[in-house]
Amino acid sequence: MLLEQLRREVLNANLEIVRRGLVLYTFGNASGIDRGRGLVAIKPSGLPYEELRPDDIVITDMNGLIVEGELRPSSDLDTHLELYRSFPTIGGVVHTHSEFATAWAQAGREIPAYGTTHADYFYGPIPVTQELAAEEVRGDYVLNTGRAIVRRFSKLDPAAVPGVLVAGHAPFSWGTGPMEAAYHAAVLEAVARMAFFTAALNPAHTSISPALLDRHYFRKHGARATYGQQHSEPV
Ligand SMILES: [Zn+2]
Repeated sequence: MLLEQLRREVLNANLEIVRRGLVLYTFGNASGIDRGRGLVAIKPSGLPYEELRPDDIVITDMNGLIVEGELRPSSDLDTHLELYRSFPTIGGVVHTHSEFATAWAQAGREIPAYGTTHADYFYGPIPVTQELAAEEVRGDYVLNTGRAIVRRFSKLDPAAVPGVLVAGHAPFSWGTGPMEAAYHAAVLEAVARMAFFTAALNPAHTSISPALLDRHYFRKHGARATYGQQHSEPV
């Protein structure tokens, strides 16, 4: 069986988004990529999560051709592939219809950086894509969803903003691997929920200050990160 380790990681990421309450029925999917071999591992379409096993995970090439697997891949495969082709630093992609993030996506509103929880993970607002044009919806819809995300990131770094809201649809998130993508999906939902209440309590609030955003983001990211245990021991 190809890519046993990646299959297990993808399976775990798919189970993690269910455990975190981000997925109702089968409204979600996680994938991972082996950059060296140019192969993607993704959840099969429509299979209940509780029945998923590593050998159910479908392996495709970068064009979506099935390399190994008996089942059909997730119907969102072409969005995942477009993100892997366009964002060379990412190693995993997760899509859910988690409730609060989806509410912002449906409202067509980006999530402002209202507080430090947001700033710990997202360096600036969580952007929302443009709505797809009618011909994009009627045409290669799933691929065009990926293209809309990539267009939205033309001036953004996907490593600094590891998630997006697809207008009228729901969030996608990513990370260095499938589990980090799932982690970012959970954080995105928590941030979306807090932002909903923040906007309700104080509609005039726009965002935290650039100083506070920098302080929190760079505490966890980049060369001078100090959060966690990585610098506690002399190396
Ligand atoms: Zn969806």
